[in-house]
Amino acid sequence: MRYIEPHAHMVSRTTDDYISMVASGCAAVCEPAFWAGFDRGSADGFHDYFLQLTEYEPKRSAKFGLPHFCWLCINPKESEDVGLAKEVLALIPEFIDRPNVLGIGEIGLNKNSRNELEVLEMHIDLAARHDQLILVHTPHLEDKLKGTRLTLDALRNNPAIKPERVIIDHVEEHTVGMVLDAGFWAGMTLYPGSKCSPARAIDIVETYGGERLWMNSACDWGVSIPLSIPYTAMEMRRRGHNADAVDTLIYRNPHEFLSQCPKFML
Ligand SMILES: [Zn+2]
Repeated sequence: MRYIEPHAHMVSRTTDDYISMVASGCAAVCEPAFWAGFDRGSADGFHDYFLQLTEYEPKRSAKFGLPHFCWLCINPKESEDVGLAKEVLALIPEFIDRPNVLGIGEIGLNKNSRNELEVLEMHIDLAARHDQLILVHTPHLEDKLKGTRLTLDALRNNPAIKPERVIIDHVEEHTVGMVLDAGFWAGMTLYPGSKCSPARAIDIVETYGGERLWMNSACDWGVSIPLSIPYTAMEMRRRGHNADAVDTLIYRNPHEFLSQCPKFML
């Protein structure tokens, strides 16, 4: 088995996780910028985090032979302070050409507030001006449907954005259709307690087909499973999906989307 982990917060994981992932067939890991489990006090905290994502973490990953890529932004959970967000966005151009940076993410909405939406629009504009791929986080639970609609509108309102260069992550049964119908890519997050279980993710694949879809573990500092992609691949085989269909979903699809960034070379 080979797979790409397109969404993992490795700064909060141990080296043992790297070893398990590589031993399970992981060919590349991609790390969106996200919340650290606490709110950072200033833009300097984000500057250090961007250094960690572009310098330290790729070196740690390379010790296990695993290519490491990242995405940059101020995440939705820290986007309520528009002044801070502007300071953080101003830092991004200095990092954007670094060799492991794939684009802008994970941006989006958390509580669907007016300030979050303003910061989302600033990120979309930044990505458009620098011709970057976009990775979008969608809100959880009851906020997800409204937040996904607001996010799709914000993307469509910017004429420079090409849907095939945007992945909308954490889709569920009630949001995947609208994302795919609008021409975007969709990511399914495999979590033990919320978002998609392996069974629900496979149901979605069987309902919508395997095009423009990927799966990720989104493992971070909370309860999450770094090997959830290979575990779900095993469940797909048990349910009768052939090896080629599994390879498409967990390797070729993320490879196709991410290769739109010329820096993504395996
Ligand atoms: Zn994430």
